[in-house]
Amino acid sequence: MRDLLEVTESGLYCERGDFHVDPWRRVPRAIITHAHADHARPGSDRYLCAASGKTVLRTRIGGGSPIDTLRHGESLSLNGVRVSLHPAGHLLGSAQVRIEHGGETWVVTGDYKLHDDPTCEPFEPVRCDVFVTESTFGLPVYRWREPAAIAADINAWWRANRDAGRTSVILAYALGKAQRIAAMVDPSIGPLVGHGAVMKIVEAYRASGVRLPPIDRVPPRARRVGDGRALVIAPPSVLGGSWLNVFGESSVAMASGWMTLRGVRRRRGFERGFAVSDHADFPGLLHAIDASGARRVLVTHGFSDSLARYLRETRGLDASVLPTHFTGETPPDAMGSDDDVPDDADTLEPRVADAAPAPPPDAASP
Ligand SMILES: [Zn+2]
Ligand SMILES: [Zn+2]
Repeated sequence: MRDLLEVTESGLYCERGDFHVDPWRRVPRAIITHAHADHARPGSDRYLCAASGKTVLRTRIGGGSPIDTLRHGESLSLNGVRVSLHPAGHLLGSAQVRIEHGGETWVVTGDYKLHDDPTCEPFEPVRCDVFVTESTFGLPVYRWREPAAIAADINAWWRANRDAGRTSVILAYALGKAQRIAAMVDPSIGPLVGHGAVMKIVEAYRASGVRLPPIDRVPPRARRVGDGRALVIAPPSVLGGSWLNVFGESSVAMASGWMTLRGVRRRRGFERGFAVSDHADFPGLLHAIDASGARRVLVTHGFSDSLARYLRETRGLDASVLPTHFTGETPPDAMGSDDDVPDDADTLEPRVADAAPAPPPDAASP
């Protein structure tokens, strides 16, 4: 019997329902787990996403292709295949796709995390027969601290900088991570300032009903901003450019799950690393896999080989790797586009790759 979902040259495809999930080429109907560029590409004829993620998805893909929506838990039938979306906890509107046909249920997670995030719906375990899971941080070394403890660290760093008259700059991916950081920190310490790329998504979040603290923009042609009290949230691509000059003396930190690795922190040219990720850590992946009840697990997007082997050996599961991209080629539009990979993949990724253990190719440049 053919599988309900198969990898084709356009990506994960359900022939029975005639739709793709997170396709990497233009297709007639694309179901989108979330709006990060390695999952949501422009140009398809028709999209389907979670209702809470529609504004963000439109901001990212632009254009006029219709975007259909489902509320989380609501379902529809596509050529007799039942499709529903369930919160993935990764960023606003991120969804796991549940696909049911002929008594068999598949779940495609997209990216997900289990930790608290005030800017999105919490991850919801979904029972299934086949669980297609990401594995960005699928090695035992990756274990996150509680978000409240990380927030306390960021606040303490910001407060110390402010007391020394130094601007705090935190580098975070513009979609999801930046808004989560804004919602995590204590805005009574000083003003929050956002880079333009961050503010574009802040507006989409606000238009979608997410409450965020006041965040200032950097005015055009500004020569000096703040008086050393601000927390500036900017994408990693500002490193090494002149954009940061308007803030005067500053301390620069990176917010990324990769900051777990000391070597990555040391070699990157910023003073602090906060290991805050929008992906599940290793225990989180195992928890989600166990909660799915699936006997068959397809691992993708990250440390797929080692996680699949771990699941076979420790859980006795039918676990294997599902390839994410066409063989031997990475779609050029996806370079440096993942949430936990710095925007500026050209300058930053080789150093991530140096650090042991190295992220696999599809995590380093999805
Ligand atoms: Zn993502
Ligand atoms: Zn991703």
